[in-house]
Amino acid sequence: MIVQKYGGSSVSTAEKMRAVAEKVVRTKRQGHPVVVVVSAMGDSTDTLLELARQMGSRLSPRELDMLLSTGETVSAALLCLAIQSLGERAVSLSAGQCGIITNDVHSNARILEVRAGRIKKELARDAIVVVPGFQGVTAQHEITTLGRGGSDTSAVAIAAALEAESCDIYTDVKGVYSADPRVVPQAVALGELGAGEMQELAWHGAQVLKAEAVEFATTNGIAVAVRPAFADDPGTLISPEPGESSVYRPHRAEVAGVTGRKDLVRISLHASALNGAQRDEIFAALSKYDLIFGGLNGAGEASELFISNLEIPDPEVFAAEFAQRFNGAVELSGELGAVSLVGFGLGSRPAALLDALRVLEEGKVPLVKSFTGRESLTFVIPRPLVDESVRRLHRVFVESHEPVSQLNVSL
Ligand code: ADP
Ligand code: ASP
Ligand code: MG
Repeated sequence: MIVQKYGGSSVSTAEKMRAVAEKVVRTKRQGHPVVVVVSAMGDSTDTLLELARQMGSRLSPRELDMLLSTGETVSAALLCLAIQSLGERAVSLSAGQCGIITNDVHSNARILEVRAGRIKKELARDAIVVVPGFQGVTAQHEITTLGRGGSDTSAVAIAAALEAESCDIYTDVKGVYSADPRVVPQAVALGELGAGEMQELAWHGAQVLKAEAVEFATTNGIAVAVRPAFADDPGTLISPEPGESSVYRPHRAEVAGVTGRKDLVRISLHASALNGAQRDEIFAALSKYDLIFGGLNGAGEASELFISNLEIPDPEVFAAEFAQRFNGAVELSGELGAVSLVGFGLGSRPAALLDALRVLEEGKVPLVKSFTGRESLTFVIPRPLVDESVRRLHRVFVESHEPVSQLNVSL
């Protein structure tokens, strides 16, 4: 059983769509049952979102999902037509027909269950099954979407439901790199990566794979391969064991990758907002967003939470309405981002934290806040300085052959 996922850039034109169809058909003719998950063509999700914004400012999340989910439907039907014209039996299904059941959080829904009966029936008829990524349906048959990059999650969830051992994610780069190769030309492609590190890289902004997809893969013991769509290359293998990693890291043993994100919104909660009914109301208003970082302080101290603006259809309207509703208790600030260093066990090493702080200070990057994770160190900084800071950290922690003088200081 082979589950393949093709991202938007791999099906951005009719020609590429036909090339993907040929690849799918080749796999089928090697004797494998094949399920293909496909994303919307090129930037069409962005185009749809932009069109929606031209309709007004208070956009209904339900209607946005009705709209955005169509991009993947178009791709699935077109890919199916291309496969059929190569002489293979193929069928495209909607998320509802595939039984991809989600919760009811529009624009950022979570898959609860995949009822794969129909997919299995089609496979038994010897058809190639083409599934639109990113879409789901609630138990009440409402259409949902899984958050940006959500086709990765669809692919791994379907692989899990079909008890496949692996899932191939085809994209526009050779695999997972030590940093986004578009930002850091010196980034190196990683042959293998532990799921724990991949999850941290993804969570902290490496868009090549969605963090939730890695989480599903780990839970279900699925090996994920990230591969180039149009080249013969094994790409990056992500082993399902959370801690295991045998990455080739030429220079710095502890850092697998550096990543950046430019989507943070800081929610500052005044001490007065952390008690009683208003606290509950604020948290109810935040409940449909993922908290990226942050936490609450005790005993009447102000606190900070960070969420992603990618989950908010219209961030400016959200900020204005939120601040007005909780007047005086809450402040929102945008224009923030973060850079992270990811590596097995890295988050528990004070020396690494200090070294990274020094590198940022040298670059005169004002630090807003830092966080440690088990396998990561993260620095919240102004959004315009994210790319340059990723390059700076990559230079020191991945490219440099010489130990940095301050590294491994004993504390
Ligand atoms: P797809 O359309 O196939 O889903 P995405 O645009 O979502 O593709 O993800 C691929 C992109 O992710 C690459 O073009 C690359 O610029 C970016 N990227 C960010 N971080 C990394 C990384 N560490 N390794 C590889 N690619 C990365
Ligand atoms: N088309 C959706 C997006 O652009 C989902 C995906 O590509 O994975 O985010
Ligand atoms: Mg993607």
